[in-house]
Amino acid sequence: MTYLSHLECSECRQHFNAGELHHLCPVCGAPLWARYDLDRAKRELDRDRYAIRPNGLWRWAELLPIDDPAQRIDLGEGGTPLLRIDRLAAELGLRDVWLKDEGRNPTGSFKARGMATAVTRAKALGVTEFVVPTAGNAGGAAAAYAARAGLKIHIYMPKDAPPANIKECLDVGADVHLIDGLINDAGRLAAAEAGKHGWFDLATLKEPYRVEGKKTMGYEIAQAMQWNLPDVIVYPAGGGTGLIG
Ligand SMILES: [Zn+2]
Repeated sequence: MTYLSHLECSECRQHFNAGELHHLCPVCGAPLWARYDLDRAKRELDRDRYAIRPNGLWRWAELLPIDDPAQRIDLGEGGTPLLRIDRLAAELGLRDVWLKDEGRNPTGSFKARGMATAVTRAKALGVTEFVVPTAGNAGGAAAAYAARAGLKIHIYMPKDAPPANIKECLDVGADVHLIDGLINDAGRLAAAEAGKHGWFDLATLKEPYRVEGKKTMGYEIAQAMQWNLPDVIVYPAGGGTGLIG
């Protein structure tokens, strides 16, 4: 079972029902975070038992936003390896440097984690049609998870996005719109179309659950390091959901 308890606004701190669909805070417009009953989780969960579960994102089920395993939209995401990179460590004058190889995820990037949890939660709450603005790999991930869920998705991307990302969206049956502009133009257009058609917008931080998938990277690193976190984690900011998660 999940310990998900409610949604909380990152700015005004108001609470909202996690059993309803939400985008941004309806009061102040800031992103919403999923909150869990961590006191109860601390009392009831044994971190050592995670190591014997099947590898992957859903290993952390109690701290993910879904109750019923049958509702998971699963393509085998998460559980990526930590690789020791000694030559780079020597070059930098460091003792221990590890690389978390997120390229092993379905669709080849960490975006798979966020789309797995966001699409899973949205479908469980009744969404049937998605839209996402993207500069590339988030679109590929969203398209793959929507296809896995058997749901429609509309993707708005700049026409100079990497051809591989455009193709991977088309290959799984997404409705792809190539636009003459940048990612923020794609975002505006996607939001307008979402409003017009009632599509669910999966844009970065506009819904609460992509962050929830991304946070499992941190759990995996902690577990692999026997729960002693590294002194430093270097992470590309990108759109921010990975870092926040
Ligand atoms: Zn708020």
